[in-house]
Amino acid sequence: MKFERAEIRETDIITCAACGHNLGTMASIREKMKKAYQRLKQPSAARKLQ
Ligand SMILES: [Zn+2]
Repeated sequence: MKFERAEIRETDIITCAACGHNLGTMASIREKMKKAYQRLKQPSAARKLQ
């Protein structure tokens, strides 16, 4: 990924460096990464105990 500015805003649209396809806004990517990380921290076995 290449950025024009040093500062990345939540509303910035991020494009794939390899093929240029739209990956969505920084905020949506951040949200997806957060959910994926939470799934890793909470395996299905642990979820059943809650
Ligand atoms: Zn791509």
